[in-house]
Amino acid sequence: MVFKLISCLFLSIGFNAYAQKTVKELDLYLLIGQSNMAGRGAVDAQSQETSEAILMLDKNNNWVTAKDPVHFDRASAGVGPAISFAKSMLEGKKNTQIGLIPCAWGGSPIKVWSPGAKYFENFPYDEAIARAKIAMQSGVLKGILWHQGESDNDSKKSAVYLSKLKTLVANLRRDLNMPDLPFVAGEIGCFNKADYINKIVNTLPDEVENTAVVSSEGLVDKGDQLHFDSPSARELGKRYAEAMKKLQAKITGENKSKTDKPKKVSSAKSNQPTVVLTFDDAEISHYNNVAPLLKKYGFDATFFVCEFPLKNPNQKNEYMTWGQIQELHKKGFEIGNHTGHHKNVTKLSPEDIDKEVAYVEEKCAEFNIPKPISFAYPGNRYDSISQGILKKRGYKYARTGGSKLYNSVTDPVLAIPSYTVISSDKYYERVKKALTDLLPGETIVLTFHGVPDLIHPDYSTTIENLKEILQLIKDKKYKVVAMKDM
Ligand SMILES: [Zn+2]
Repeated sequence: MVFKLISCLFLSIGFNAYAQKTVKELDLYLLIGQSNMAGRGAVDAQSQETSEAILMLDKNNNWVTAKDPVHFDRASAGVGPAISFAKSMLEGKKNTQIGLIPCAWGGSPIKVWSPGAKYFENFPYDEAIARAKIAMQSGVLKGILWHQGESDNDSKKSAVYLSKLKTLVANLRRDLNMPDLPFVAGEIGCFNKADYINKIVNTLPDEVENTAVVSSEGLVDKGDQLHFDSPSARELGKRYAEAMKKLQAKITGENKSKTDKPKKVSSAKSNQPTVVLTFDDAEISHYNNVAPLLKKYGFDATFFVCEFPLKNPNQKNEYMTWGQIQELHKKGFEIGNHTGHHKNVTKLSPEDIDKEVAYVEEKCAEFNIPKPISFAYPGNRYDSISQGILKKRGYKYARTGGSKLYNSVTDPVLAIPSYTVISSDKYYERVKKALTDLLPGETIVLTFHGVPDLIHPDYSTTIENLKEILQLIKDKKYKVVAMKDM
């Protein structure tokens, strides 16, 4: 679906008059949530007023003059907060043009606002990211407006709402590569029969930087105790704009004071060879030996975790606990998915692949580790079915074997080759040679198991050998990244 959206853009953008008009850079805003963001107010005379300064990305990813209904989620889409928000953002600004990116879906619960999640025929989160990225070819994303909560407004769902909302903000900022992106949420109407959500939403700014919440006080419904009427939706839009301006001013102020300080100059050259360090199977040596060594060198890495099937209960001590995996995450390392139980995915049914992948995601959620976006195929075995499932679940990278360098033009991102590092002469010398011969612009992915590996001695790397490799990388001044940053 995401791919379709993107290819659709390439077909359409060159032929669209507005797209050509907007090369000058739009201020972009992503609009997400459920029906009150999409707008359900009656379209009226005021809805006919348009301005060339406010554009919207239509259903087919074309820029057109914005007009209610901005959204297209349902035939009932009408007046929402979007246009009055844009008008307020433009007050006092002469040469600014706004691009609205409508992506809300009526009735959507927060659980479908996550990577890979489906809502009827759509993938709200994935499509929002894809459309935002399309829009970002014509401007700069300045913020996100979120209005959602009616579908989670009961005692049970509201209890987990804050953690889901925090994850959503983190995922959006990660996937859009904008860690400080302003995020403004709105209270649901005070006219709703129950009120579980608003007090939870209001705790967001205490928990997450650069977020704000706008009040729904005094706003009225259109008679259904659920949706704002048109004047109220417009007032809500103005409140979003006030909150957004304040957040933007705060961030600009902070960035100014940051640039006053001397900048740490990186010696990194843009085209230097890249090494991706990955460690498989959640072995205890990763926690005891590898992480401290990597920290010493200041190198990032990806740990591909699973619950390795045990041959006897004593083997349990040879693997990390989820608590230890969580500590690796807190130290800044990436946690990747290696299936729940180290299963050869080519031997599983699609349902079972899905379950095995979901298992690690659920464990990560339980331990406050971000949902993995990198995957390593157990035994390096993969097929198009497993690739399709990973793509659907929002994975950006998947690693296999093959003992060759990664070629970003010919290798699919869901089948990235790697070299396995083992302290036996043949393997070790091969890896060292590949590393030593690395040229500018080239990328090598290394796969390690235990350092050392007591359970699978055939895959063991000694601490001395790991040190030697890390030192070689350091001496050569290669760039070292986790898989998610490839
Ligand atoms: Zn493995």
